Amino acid sequence: MSFENGCLDGPVLIVGSVAYDSVRTPFGEMNEVLGGAASYASVSASFFAPVRLVAVVGDDFAERHVAQLGARNIDLAGLQRARGKTFRWSGYYEYDFSQAHTTATELNVFQDFRPELPPGYPESPYVFLANIDPALQLSVLDQMRHPKLVVCDTMNFWIENAREKLLEVLARCDVALLNDAEARELCQEGSLVAAGRKILDLGPGVVIIKKGEHGAVMMSRDSYFAAPGYPLEEIRDPTGAGDTFAGGLVGYLARCGEIGEEALRRAIIAGSVMASFTVEDFSLHRLFNLSTEEVAERYDEITTMTQFGTF
Ligand code: AMP
Repeated sequence: MSFENGCLDGPVLIVGSVAYDSVRTPFGEMNEVLGGAASYASVSASFFAPVRLVAVVGDDFAERHVAQLGARNIDLAGLQRARGKTFRWSGYYEYDFSQAHTTATELNVFQDFRPELPPGYPESPYVFLANIDPALQLSVLDQMRHPKLVVCDTMNFWIENAREKLLEVLARCDVALLNDAEARELCQEGSLVAAGRKILDLGPGVVIIKKGEHGAVMMSRDSYFAAPGYPLEEIRDPTGAGDTFAGGLVGYLARCGEIGEEALRRAIIAGSVMASFTVEDFSLHRLFNLSTEEVAERYDEITTMTQFGTF
């Protein structure tokens, strides 16, 4: 993987939660640390392309977190500050890291959030609708002018609480991202391939199903691709892995300026690499201490790992 060419086709607009998370895993516990789908996705995407973040935080949001995001060259003109508390999520994991157990979701300032895109944002070629109320995802989409690529993500909370709006989002996006449990729940299917087909019937041209440490599969009407996860020895906190994957994927596509099958395959590997770093530590700690050289090295390792000859 080479970073020589710079970004050909950014920027990436990302809307989603910016949060304070309280997380417990068998390897530690952190209270009120920076989290949120859009935070992970934006920092991840910023390794590849310029990013525009659209979200809301409360008056309790620390300046040092604004500074950390700004230092990644993320445009924060779309980060509103509102009276009240920042979104909060609390959860825990047992040894099965594929299953997050939510103990509390407090929408707080997201409850009254009406995203208004700053000048220039509607022309962004790449849009990532990260995990948040599908009504807010739709409101951002309504303001966009002919984006080249719309990618959307969600989670069980919205599948269960806002299904109709979520189906509208899926009908309007190009690439749908879900994890395996969400795909099964959304489609009431046991087989991931059958679930993938049903999701394609809802509208997106491509569906990517994330399988945690086991990698991801991508399906379109006439193609199938399976990517492995990076074989990590140490995982401390899986929170944000999916969002980091998504940010890396969209950022990578914006950087190479292509959205065909081959580019998507490489983007999935880039996303997996980014996610493999996130889970090494709590919150965004590892992402804030990551170099592009480390990213490129791990990308090349996966490439080597997955090569085999013809039969
Ligand atoms: P992931 O582990 O990639 O699925 O995402 C974890 C992040 O999602 C955490 O940092 C949370 O702050 C955020 N999150 C949890 N629940 C929700 C929700 N209902 N809506 C938006 N973001 C959420």
